[in-house]
Amino acid sequence: MSFSSMMTLKCPQCEEGKQFKGLFSMYENCPQCGYKYEKEQGYFTAAIFIGNFLYGLIVAPTILIMAAIDEPVWKIALVLGGFSLFAVPLIFRYARSIWMYMDYITEES
Ligand SMILES: [Zn+2]
Repeated sequence: MSFSSMMTLKCPQCEEGKQFKGLFSMYENCPQCGYKYEKEQGYFTAAIFIGNFLYGLIVAPTILIMAAIDEPVWKIALVLGGFSLFAVPLIFRYARSIWMYMDYITEES
């Protein structure tokens, strides 16, 4: 299990199968090895927290920097709005991938 397969959104077990079939839709099981991704109802709830954390990591410094250089609030909102449009699908996918890998590591030991 490697960091690169987590970042390329591959199955935590075989590192071959894809996790996602669409922008927001996942396979139920790994298409290669059959590993079940969503183990139970609400399994990905924890991924929401990871996603919020990742989002905050990027957004908080942006707000602080823009406020420090005296950009008006509407400009900050515009930049963050534009950024969010493109970042939300990425963060959604990576948060789920990170969560599955974290779960897979703790499951193994
Ligand atoms: Zn697999």
